[in-house]
Amino acid sequence: MTADAPSQTPAQAQPAPNVDASAVREIAAGVFVIPDHRVPLVPNVGIIIGNDAALVIDTGMGPRNGEHVHEAARRLAGGRRLFLTLTHFHPEHGYGAQAFKGEAIILYNRAQRDELAAKWDAYLGMFRQIFPAAVSDALADTRIVMPDIAYEGPWCEVDLGGRIVELSTAGMAHTRGDQIAFVRPERILFTGDLAEEKTFPIFPWFPPNDTSIDAKNWAAWLAACAELDPAIVVPGHGEVGSVAILNEVRTYLLDLAGEVATRRKAGMDADGIVAELAPAVRARYPEWHFPEWIDFAIRYYSTLG
Ligand SMILES: [Zn+2]
Repeated sequence: MTADAPSQTPAQAQPAPNVDASAVREIAAGVFVIPDHRVPLVPNVGIIIGNDAALVIDTGMGPRNGEHVHEAARRLAGGRRLFLTLTHFHPEHGYGAQAFKGEAIILYNRAQRDELAAKWDAYLGMFRQIFPAAVSDALADTRIVMPDIAYEGPWCEVDLGGRIVELSTAGMAHTRGDQIAFVRPERILFTGDLAEEKTFPIFPWFPPNDTSIDAKNWAAWLAACAELDPAIVVPGHGEVGSVAILNEVRTYLLDLAGEVATRRKAGMDADGIVAELAPAVRARYPEWHFPEWIDFAIRYYSTLG
């Protein structure tokens, strides 16, 4: 894959994509997050502890990050059994899974597993090609790891002993196999890249290599997530927050869809719409990070008619 995905920040300014497991913090009793500190290509990582087992959500990118996350989980979980799941297959979320192979029960939804199998190698090549050397370094010796269990259908429960985590997928949105995790009693929701805080939503729109986005479904899913009434939202990237994160992203998606559609009906092409609309969208969200993703979103919506 040689698509010109954005570099997020200039190469020389981009820090190494290292998960800082020492920063792990407890956001509710037995629910931990390793925050991303807004480092590009570092996700928020979740670790949820039950009486008998613990669930890790996302690994960071590459075997060393995966090892750091595994060590943090092992330390918090003691002798409990470990599970690992991913919010989606993207390298910064899941390409550390090999550190868990044989150490945890690895559990993905079927669409995610299939998307990983189909795109694994191309994404590895793309990331090595377009990002700075620190990213290639992080990805060195990365191996594909398939899940021990790929659940069928939209929903799966992970029983950690006295605590159940609900995993669910609603089909293609940010990727083909996005998955949320919900801890219902405490109403804590892990969203992956369906929702990033103060960050322009990532549209991995790299035609012809990758076009697996359904932003209409994505917006609808965010509405369904808001109906869960989460007290705490752990976004894929950015600060842990409230349901407001979900609503802000959904508003962005719906507004942009409408604005692009209006211009398409008026006969504008994608380049023209990007030129006119992207600066205005950027100005509307002055605090949001990674504005380079605006163009990708506009180009995606420009294909819808
Ligand atoms: Zn992603």
